[in-house]
Amino acid sequence: MFGLMMDTPLSIVSLIEFGARYNGTVEIVSRTVEGPIHRYTYRDSFARIARLARALAGLGMREGDRVGTLAWNGHRHFELYYGVPGIGAVCHTINPRLFPEQIAFIVNHAEDRLLFSDLTFLPLLEKLAPALRKVEKFVLMTDRAHMPKTGLRDCLCYEELLEGTADTYPWPTLDERAAAGLCYTSGTTGNPKGVLYSHRSTVLHALGNNLRDSAGARAGEAVLPVVPMFHVNAWGIPFGAPIIGAKLVFPGPKYDPESLYELFHTEKVAFSAGVPTVWIALLEYMRKTGKRLPDLRTIGVGGSAMTQALCEAYEREFGIEVAHGWGMTETSPVGTHNTLLPREASLPWEERLRYKLAQGRGRFLVEIKIVDARGRRLPEDGVATGELCVRGPYVASAYYHDEEASRAAWDEEGWFHTGDVASIDVEGYVRIVDRIKDMIKSGGEWISSIELEGAAMSHAAVLEAAAFARPDKKWGERPVLAVRLRPGARASKEEIASFLAGRIAKWAIPEDIMFVEEFPYTATGKVAKRILRERAVAALSAAPAPAQAAQASRA
Ligand code: ADP
Repeated sequence: MFGLMMDTPLSIVSLIEFGARYNGTVEIVSRTVEGPIHRYTYRDSFARIARLARALAGLGMREGDRVGTLAWNGHRHFELYYGVPGIGAVCHTINPRLFPEQIAFIVNHAEDRLLFSDLTFLPLLEKLAPALRKVEKFVLMTDRAHMPKTGLRDCLCYEELLEGTADTYPWPTLDERAAAGLCYTSGTTGNPKGVLYSHRSTVLHALGNNLRDSAGARAGEAVLPVVPMFHVNAWGIPFGAPIIGAKLVFPGPKYDPESLYELFHTEKVAFSAGVPTVWIALLEYMRKTGKRLPDLRTIGVGGSAMTQALCEAYEREFGIEVAHGWGMTETSPVGTHNTLLPREASLPWEERLRYKLAQGRGRFLVEIKIVDARGRRLPEDGVATGELCVRGPYVASAYYHDEEASRAAWDEEGWFHTGDVASIDVEGYVRIVDRIKDMIKSGGEWISSIELEGAAMSHAAVLEAAAFARPDKKWGERPVLAVRLRPGARASKEEIASFLAGRIAKWAIPEDIMFVEEFPYTATGKVAKRILRERAVAALSAAPAPAQAAQASRA
């Protein structure tokens, strides 16, 4: 027997429709690529989203068609987030930090028919256009006055497209399982893999973000997603904010700490989210200038592990709450978030820290477990570690048109195998040990690169650290640590090694410590360990000394 309730399908456009109706005067503030700050309200935005939908239909976009975007966080990108799925098409966000060949690969793989782009990426498009086989038209996200001269074929102007169209749209009723968004993982191994979100998954994820205990935005507050809209939907913030009535603040192309600080300050931002690198840079900026952010209530930190040093600095030095979270492109992306249970929240700082550093507890609608190498479930006792597996209505069930990669990542019971190693304790706190491929195996002992990095970053002179494996003839692999010192700070290799000695196991003490001025980053803002490893191996083989160097370069 079925229940007698309406089967109203969940739809993305309903989020902004609700926002325009009930939070119509709440603002969206964007730093534009053209320069000035742009302001309008949810009501204004919804009207323009309707115009955009008409323009898309006028260009022949039909249900299921893919529309690519190469854009920063800004109001026009926000309009595409809604207008494209609103007509039943698929908004394919493209990460401009990927290598050009990867961008060409994913645009062709997705078969994007239209490509919307911020002015910043015009030179890239001019170069790539001949390789983009299915793209019929390019749309530059600017107004007529800023349209550049370009040899790019079939190039349109965003504001001209919207001119003269009506600001209402007969939004179609779509199947809630219809594809709505597409995002490719950065593909550090093999080609990027597409994750195809649906209306249903996107709405459920937005509701998950908005749960009172999820550390997200709240009504009446301003929220600034530092996490880019071109990767994993800016953690779903642009979908959750309209229904809760939070002001959205978009940083546009300016990610340097000074520009971010200025927006945080002037717009009185209360909640923000980003990868640790962003928070490290902002921290250093505030320390250097003596500036503070009294309105900033909470920062969400994820994408890479948060360290003790970062957590202590924000919470104790600046009074800003830090909420750790874990997720992946495949999990929409937020899979766990960390708001402490009352018992843990009332513990003395040193004990509380242990919980704060966890990646959080599973969220409602995200089932999690850890398994051993043969797929057998492991106890959730906070001690056993195994591969983290997830399942739920906003977790991907396969990769887009990639059977081989899908077969490798999902099991017969539908669990997605994340490639991350974790423990889960009795209260459900998940602690990520490492990515499987980043763990270092030295003489039969596993070393967690995350643990080693966290310990190194507790040293007062160390700003950022990355640990990785270097091949070693005797031990198989040995850990090497790359370190970026705080500006003006000094520390020798020996000093850092002896600082680590009391904090981590003997076999985890790095074989070598390299000082770097700047870290190389991946397209998603994580330290590119592969590049560091190549440098370390090259440095070893170039070293004048001895036998060991020769061995390692042959290994
Ligand atoms: P990419 O691999 O393209 O960077 P994702 O953004 O999907 O793609 O990254 C997901 C991965 O990031 C996770 O599998 C995990 O290894 C890592 N990660 C995310 N959040 C955390 C966290 N809080 N702590 C440790 N690792 C994290």
